[in-house]
Amino acid sequence: MKSHTRVVVIGGGVVGCSVLYHLTKFGWTDVVLLERSELTSGSTWHAAGGMHTINGDPNVAKLQKYTVELYKEIEEYSGQDIGLHMTSGLMLAATKERFDWMKSLLAKGKYAGGEATLISAQEAYEMMPLLDPKQFVGAVFDPHEGHLDPYGTTHAYAKSAKKNGAEIYLHTKVEDLVQLEDGTWRVITDKGEIRCEHVVNAAGLWAREVGRMVGLELPVLAMEHMYLITEDMPEVIDFNKTTGKELMHCVDFDGEIYIRQERNGMLMGTYEKDCRPWSPIETPWTFGHELLAEDLERITNELEIGFRHFPAFNNAGIRRIINGPFTFSPDGNPLVGPVRGMTNYWSACAVMAGFSQGGGVGLALANWIIEGDPGFDVFAMDVCRYGDYATLAYTNAKVRENYSRRFSIRYPNEELPGARPLLTTPIYDKLKSAGAVFGASYGLETPLWFAPEGVEDAFSWRRSTDFEAVGREAKVVRESVGLMETSGFAKYMVSGEGSRAWLDHMLACKLPEVGRMALAPMLNDAGKLIGDFTIANLDDEDFLIIGSGIAEDYHMRWFEQHLPDDGSVDIEALNLNLVGLSIAGPKSRDVIAKLTHLDVSDAALPFMAIREMDLGMAPVILGRVSYTGDLGYEIWMRPEYQRYVFDTLMEAGAEFGISLFGLRALNALRLEKSFGSWSREYRPLYGPLEAGLSRFVALKKEASFIGKQAALEEKLSGGTLRLRTFIVEAKDADVIGDEPISYKGEVRGWVTSGGFAHPSGVSVAIGYVPKEIADEMDGWGVEILGEILPARLQPLSLFDANGSRMRS
Ligand SMILES: Cc1cc2nc3c(=O)[nH]c(=O)nc-3n(C[C@H](O)[C@H](O)[C@H](O)COP(=O)(O)OP(=O)(O)OC[C@H]3O[C@@H](n4cnc5c(N)ncnc54)[C@H](O)[C@@H]3O)c2cc1C
Repeated sequence: MKSHTRVVVIGGGVVGCSVLYHLTKFGWTDVVLLERSELTSGSTWHAAGGMHTINGDPNVAKLQKYTVELYKEIEEYSGQDIGLHMTSGLMLAATKERFDWMKSLLAKGKYAGGEATLISAQEAYEMMPLLDPKQFVGAVFDPHEGHLDPYGTTHAYAKSAKKNGAEIYLHTKVEDLVQLEDGTWRVITDKGEIRCEHVVNAAGLWAREVGRMVGLELPVLAMEHMYLITEDMPEVIDFNKTTGKELMHCVDFDGEIYIRQERNGMLMGTYEKDCRPWSPIETPWTFGHELLAEDLERITNELEIGFRHFPAFNNAGIRRIINGPFTFSPDGNPLVGPVRGMTNYWSACAVMAGFSQGGGVGLALANWIIEGDPGFDVFAMDVCRYGDYATLAYTNAKVRENYSRRFSIRYPNEELPGARPLLTTPIYDKLKSAGAVFGASYGLETPLWFAPEGVEDAFSWRRSTDFEAVGREAKVVRESVGLMETSGFAKYMVSGEGSRAWLDHMLACKLPEVGRMALAPMLNDAGKLIGDFTIANLDDEDFLIIGSGIAEDYHMRWFEQHLPDDGSVDIEALNLNLVGLSIAGPKSRDVIAKLTHLDVSDAALPFMAIREMDLGMAPVILGRVSYTGDLGYEIWMRPEYQRYVFDTLMEAGAEFGISLFGLRALNALRLEKSFGSWSREYRPLYGPLEAGLSRFVALKKEASFIGKQAALEEKLSGGTLRLRTFIVEAKDADVIGDEPISYKGEVRGWVTSGGFAHPSGVSVAIGYVPKEIADEMDGWGVEILGEILPARLQPLSLFDANGSRMRS
């Protein structure tokens, strides 16, 4: 074994081998893979080998497309047969709701060039005669699906990597990892030690244990998964003979099963409701090429539906049942990327669909290691999308929920109940008794809307039971004053003598003077948006930064990676040690004025001013800013004061009719101002000019901030896209996100977010379109639930276009 190398990849499953191959493909050939047994010794060897490109997240779909297209390349390059069968596939819907869901899924793929199409149940039957068309209302046909041989595929990656210079040591178990002061790693194995710069945890079923070697508790858990293989079936043999083709893949969502041809018979697998975690605390190192005991009873319900939907199975004998474990994260997406707080410890685990996603994971991770950036928007897969709330027990509850719902519909307004409530703020019970319907975001219970007595959230693709109440909440803000909780935002305190200079380098904006706030885009080296914050200068050495709650770890990782070594800057994520309330609306100043002796007139406390002051008896930080686009205040306080501040504001606001509002009303309000939000309008896919944020990018400031050169280039070239707001002639449903935007009948862009802007009474879609057509007023269409609805450009914000309400 070598004594030194650049990268050690731990784990020779399909994911580790893909990472190794991609590193060598991009020129890093001094790399090593360590495998405790033979290649494929985790979950890989017993996989069903199915792969497809469709995914609910268009960014993940892109990586799946890449994975599927890569197979021919590695087969040819390695000379290893991977048993590729591109059979194409069907996704079947047995109910109208399911078909609506499929329409929205399909629409998402359109601007990315997805070739899947909607077909009738009869057309599906003509393609796949094993199904009973009476059981279905329709289907999606996807030409890019198939299956392959897991063993061959893994070896094709491995052989390709070796051909490029990588080394693979089998029967070499990593037993410990120690980081040295210079940041390099000692990888301690049962065969000796190897030093390296980077360690990749691709240990699959043992990813948790390899995480624990460095004190990490990765949110990953293995679940048992079963599929059965039938004896030869005459229907299959007959189809193959008469058509010269193999039967295609089917995912039957309502049966919660998938099927495909396996030799002259069929394979049927299930994601059963009665699911079982495997080795929930610790994966035994003794586990090898073994299968788990079969337990058909647990999947009887699913099989019964499957056999009804595909009657030919009733006459088939079962040749084999496979029960094997494989890993999931709480939301089912992989955990990829550099782990926060560590130098060069990389995660490539929780890949539950290794044959659809393994190539994309390898590509993104190799880019990230070599270039410092994944090269794509991989937030949906980023290991940093979870905070420390994702404990072992949280992961267990969420993974079980996710597994049992793998083929269930998730409605756009549906909040899943698993592992809740976990994080709550001090006013949780007060909000609850006022009718709050909560969603969980980054583990925290956050009010979405306030339901009148007897009204519940009904999950739907269309406007639902919350519609009237959300409308009322939004209107109170525009007409009088509303109060909402804002604790779910991420809050960072940056302090120290070097903080001003450091922030000037990190953020693209001009830093505000003491007592002022500014909108602060953050760019990566390529000049793409990796953050949009509000920064408040408290006293030139202490800055409060407010950002998206879900990106707290993501942003902290970036901040910490760029901290100076001299200790002159300190950054802390305040979590729930600082909680927030916000009041907004024309009467909000009157409410604040009742609670302080200070002058809060526009002259004394103008728009974007911030003060540390008392509100009643409570010390707070009060900023004059509101995401509603109205006159408003964000009020930050220590948690022990929140109940008091809440009661005091409600009492002071009573004479003005103060009322609570939640995130859904906030969405309606910010749409009227065309305000964008992180992970929707603002992502590493877009530059600040494209996103309409260039006025907040201080190209003329002296400091050379990260991404400055690229932002200058974007300004010169004009970028390619523009963010625009559209009014849609919607019927009973509004956009959710990712719907295609067409211009003169051709798909030209995509929706980032939208909804019903209640006070204005119109349906709004915000999205990106090519700059050449971005100022056309008419000719637009937005697809909602399979129907292309006319839309028109809304060039100015719907509410208060000159900003006088929030500024005076
Ligand atoms: C029954 C079943 C059916 C499936 N069907 C499909 C399907 O149709 N399509 C699909 O895409 N996916 C399917 N999967 C999932 C697929 O198997 C996984 O996505 C994939 O195997 C994950 O690969 P991996 O490389 O991440 O992990 P693993 O395959 O678990 O590989 C990890 C490797 O790391 C090694 N290792 C661990 N710790 C150490 C250490 N300390 N030192 C050295 N080596 C170590 C292990 O020995 C192992 O070889 C299925 C899974 C099951 C169980």
